[in-house]
This record gives sequence, C-alpha cells and structure tokens, in this order.
Amino acid sequence: MKFINEEKVKEILKTSVNPTHEEIDEIIDKAEHHENLDLLDVAKLLEVKDDDQLERIKTIAGKMKETIYGKRVVLFAPFYISNYCVNQCVYCGYNMKNKFKRKRLTQKQIAQEVKTLESLGHKRLALEAGEDPINCSMDYILESMDTIYDTRNQNGNIRRINVNIAATTVENYKRLKEKGIGTYILFQETYHEDTYKKMHPKGPKSNYEYHLTAFDRAMEAGIDDVGAGVLFGLYDYKFEVLSLIMHNLYLEEKYGVGFHTISVPRLKKAEGVSLDLFPNLVDDEAFIRIVTVLRLALPFVGIILSTRETPKMRERLIKHGVSQISAGSCTEVGGYKEKYESKQTINQFELSDERAPLEVISQLVDSGYIPSYCTACYRSGRTGDRFMRLAKSGQIGNVCEPNALMTLMEYVEDYGSEVLKEKAKTFIHTRVQAIKNEKVRDYTIKALERIENNERDLFI
Ligand code: SAM
Repeated sequence: MKFINEEKVKEILKTSVNPTHEEIDEIIDKAEHHENLDLLDVAKLLEVKDDDQLERIKTIAGKMKETIYGKRVVLFAPFYISNYCVNQCVYCGYNMKNKFKRKRLTQKQIAQEVKTLESLGHKRLALEAGEDPINCSMDYILESMDTIYDTRNQNGNIRRINVNIAATTVENYKRLKEKGIGTYILFQETYHEDTYKKMHPKGPKSNYEYHLTAFDRAMEAGIDDVGAGVLFGLYDYKFEVLSLIMHNLYLEEKYGVGFHTISVPRLKKAEGVSLDLFPNLVDDEAFIRIVTVLRLALPFVGIILSTRETPKMRERLIKHGVSQISAGSCTEVGGYKEKYESKQTINQFELSDERAPLEVISQLVDSGYIPSYCTACYRSGRTGDRFMRLAKSGQIGNVCEPNALMTLMEYVEDYGSEVLKEKAKTFIHTRVQAIKNEKVRDYTIKALERIENNERDLFI
C-alpha cells in the first residue's frame, strides 16, 4: 500500500543522520511555536544526543499536552473477552500454536466482569479479543457490547467501549458503528512489510495490505474515531515513528481526520515468546524519545500508555505528553473477578503496573493531575473532525478539565477511600479556582459551578 512509502522513509532516515546542534535547535523552536514538523524534522529529532536538547524536547512535549488538554489524564481498562485465535503472530501469547485451554466469556460472565470493572470505578473500556471468525464472531462481539452497555452496578455504568479487534470488512465496521463503538483501535504492529510478514506467517492477519487499510474501511463505514499503534520492538523504532506519521497524514488528507489516539506498546515476555529473538527491543531512553517526539509531531493526538510500563515510567511520561493510561488492568480473559476477589493475577503478557485504579488515581492527584473518566465527547457526538476542530482551535481544554473534574468528583463519592475523599476535596476546589482564573468561557464557568454544587453525570 503506497501511502507507506518505505523507500521514502528510509531515504529520510539516511538524510537525518548526524544533524547539527543548530538544526535541532531550530526544529525544537518550531515545535515550541506550534509549527508543523515535517518528516525530516521528526527524523532529526529522533537523532538528538545532547542532554540539554533532550530535556527541552521533554519539557515542550509536556507543555504541549497541557496547553491543549489541560491537567487531565484519561483512564480506561482493557477487557479481554476471548483468547481464541487463528493467527500465528510470533510475538503474541494467543498464537494458535500455543496449546492452552482457550476461553471465551459467556454473556453472563461478561456481565460479572463488567460489574467488577464498574465496582473499581471504570467508565471506559477497551474491548479486546483474538481473531477467530467462528469462536469469536462479529455477532458475538456485538452481543457482548450490548451486554457491557446494559450492565449496571449501583452508580456504575460503562459509557464508552473502544474496540480493539482484528481488521474487518466495511459491513462489520458499520455494525460496530451502529452498536455504539467509541474508538476503533488497531495496532499496525510494524509498518515494515517484510518484518510484518515474518511476524505474521499465517492466518488472516498475515495480509499486510488488508491490515494496513483497515482504517480506510472503518472510515468508509462511518467510524471517524480510530486509534493506531505500533508494537515497539519488532523493527527499527525510527522507521515506525515516521511511518505512523505518514499514515496519519494520509488519513487526514483523504478523510479530513487522522488518528484520535496512538498507543505505544513495547514488546513484553509472553506465553511461548522469548524476547531474545527480537533484536529491535526499545530501551527506556529510546522509548521516552519516541513518546516525546510523537507528541511534538502530532500535538492533538491522544497518546496512550498501558500497564505494560512500570508506574515509574508512566509517571515520567505523563509529565511529557501522555494523555491516556489504563489502570488496574488484567489481560487474562475473565481475570478481573479473580484478580480483585481472590487477589491472584494471571495475565496474557507480563504487566509492569499492578496497582488498582484507586492507587493510580490517588497518585495522579498527588502529582497535580486530574484523573478523568470523561466520555463527554463521545456522548455528545464530538468525534472525528468535530473533535479535532475543537482541539486545533485550542478550545478542547475548556471542556476537558471541567468534565474531568466532574468525573473525579463522582469517582471519589462512589469509590474513594476516606484518605482520597479528604485530599480530593481540596484538590478539586483548588483546581476549580485555578481554571476559573485561566479559562473564561461561560460554559466552562457554568460547568465549574455545577461541580461546586455536587451535581452528577453532567458534561459539556
Ligand atoms: N487481535 C487483535 C488484532 O489482531 O489486532 C488485537 C487484540 S491484541 C490482544 C492487542 C495488542 O496486544 C496487539 O495488537 C499487540 O500489539 C499487543 N501484543 C501482543 N503480544 C504482545 C506482547 N508480547 N507484548 C506486548 N504487547 C503485545
């Protein structure tokens, strides 16, 4: 598929080697002044070695995220409903060659899991499944979405389901759209075609072009909210970063809107997967560079960090551009009830952050961030280009921060410990005052007043 032009990416990477100090300063200045970076600029930033320049990139990435989205950090949980899979992805524990007893949740089990997730405070899920048209058909996915949206636990309900399932047909994307999909998430894994073919030797996912064009079919079906990603560790990360940006540019040009989010999973140990076989693993230093440079290149795109990363790395990167994180995650099918009721942890690939949402939320508040379960954009139809228009005009922060504070207030009332209740009360009050001083829009002020009056389930 020629919108990923491998030759061009390689040429840019060659040209960008050893940029001068002045060149890098100029590119960082451009980013600081919110000017667009081209692919060569991005490639050069990926080459920076000077510590001061690296620090500047990190600082600007953090500021950029805060200028656009404010202090809020969106929270969600992945929800694995089936591990049946007909693919043989070399890096994945679900590889069909792995012999373990496969599971697919019944609708009753889904409702039980959702109740557990709701009892933790979750409002947003990312539904995950292996690919198997028979054991995990589109009918099953759609029925499961109904069950999830219909399951209520006291004050809890799931307000948005993002869906991360295999590339499919326009017809199926239309059905997902009708069911109320939030973001359709699909990781390209690697944009490098030869590597892609090696990593996906058999099964429907082995078709590089079909996988790469999934977002075209989703857009054609009316899903204007798509989330991309690369599995870092499969191929040269510089090639992947440029290709991600190329993919985004292509979608923007063709459909008027690019990625809503980008995920940056790093390869982890998994059932039957030894990391020794992967020569392109990304170390922490390179990983920070990837996230911060992506933020500079794509200021308006949400950047998602999962519990594959340690609490320390997550804390660092929230300061430098990450805008969404998963919390309290379990990657085992049906694992939430067991994890939170019997305290055992069984996961499909290794996790590095095992903290429950309460702990994550408490720590975010301590660091001055607003943990957000907000789903307002989705619920008010602010998706695709409507969302991006608001983001690009600098207005999104006016709705994000008050909405985030409202969901924090709800969370604290419904699920907060005494300690969190006490500290959140002061935190919310202080943030309300700060935003009132910074943001002068009428609707923002009105929303803040509703928070002060303890009104619930409201959003702007
Ligand atoms: N089956 C769906 C598909 O084909 O796109 C997606 C669901 S899969 C459970 C979610 C993602 O987990 C994959 O797209 C892949 O990037 C990631 N993943 C798989 N194995 C992994 C590993 N060993 N370490 C880290 N992430 C992994």
